[in-house]
Amino acid sequence: MYNEIYEKIKEFETIVIARHIGVDPDALCSQLAMRDSIKLSFPEKKVLAIGTGSQKFLQIGKLDKMEEVTHALLIVCDTPDLKRIDGAKPEDFSFTIKIDHHPFIDSFGGIELIEDDKSSTCEIIMKLIEDTPLKCNKEIAELLYMGLVSDSNRFLFNSATANTFQRVAEYMKKYQFDLSELYGKLYLRPLSEVRLEGYISLNMIVTENKLGYIVITDDLIKEFGVDSASAGNMINDFNYIKEVLVWATITEDAKNKQYRVSIRSRGPKIHKVAEAHNGGGHEMASGARVKTLDEAMLIMKDLDEELKKYNKEVE
Ligand code: AMP
Repeated sequence: MYNEIYEKIKEFETIVIARHIGVDPDALCSQLAMRDSIKLSFPEKKVLAIGTGSQKFLQIGKLDKMEEVTHALLIVCDTPDLKRIDGAKPEDFSFTIKIDHHPFIDSFGGIELIEDDKSSTCEIIMKLIEDTPLKCNKEIAELLYMGLVSDSNRFLFNSATANTFQRVAEYMKKYQFDLSELYGKLYLRPLSEVRLEGYISLNMIVTENKLGYIVITDDLIKEFGVDSASAGNMINDFNYIKEVLVWATITEDAKNKQYRVSIRSRGPKIHKVAEAHNGGGHEMASGARVKTLDEAMLIMKDLDEELKKYNKEVE
């Protein structure tokens, strides 16, 4: 399938690369790395990486403005479902390629490279570059590393396998990138965010079944002076708490009149609960967007039930 993808890239003069809404480093780095690798390999092609960016990730790289395109190839990175593609629709393109590490949700109609055992979409692209004539340089390798390290939560998840470490080691050896510089781009944050993290630790509600959750209201977001996206991304900082097996943040997004529910687990699989509430994701890292706080609390109730069953099974 890697070669089929390479052949399609060769075939099209105009290529648009999209990814999911609610940009995160794996989505952004995978699309930028694809764009830059294609441009390096085929300098005459027009290649655009599109979607809404985020102030937080400005240091990582620059996106392109969408333009009128005809007879173009669409590559969608890190997105399993049609409804979450940011800024493009497969039906407007001559052919679509999906490159993703989430469990399958919707078919996009063309080539679907899905490897849900991989740590990140960036890791899939590392392999794609290894196995095809697509070119790479230090900047592209750095993007791929940043996406991988972010989505594996610094190699904390089981999705970081021996192959992942081997692949990373080979890229590091070949491209000699400076880790502290890259971590600065990914992890440097204002004190206001650290203070909000402190508030979450102090105020997280923990049930007897080991569900930990917190509602981060718009008032709280304003009080701490952080933005809603950064608040929602704090979920990854609450792993490995003894009393908590599943944890969730319910972050108010006043601008879009919705709540972003982010869920992580070290125990039961949680993606089915997210799917049942119009969300989705991985077995141990899922999310949903809901219109009301009541709906978000229903998700908490379902998660607590899952935990109750899980705790009985492992007893
Ligand atoms: P988050 O906690 O928002 O970073 O989301 C974790 C994962 O859950 C993402 O990588 C997506 O795979 C998935 N996800 C989050 N929100 C949604 C949604 N509204 N619909 C489907 N999948 C989602």
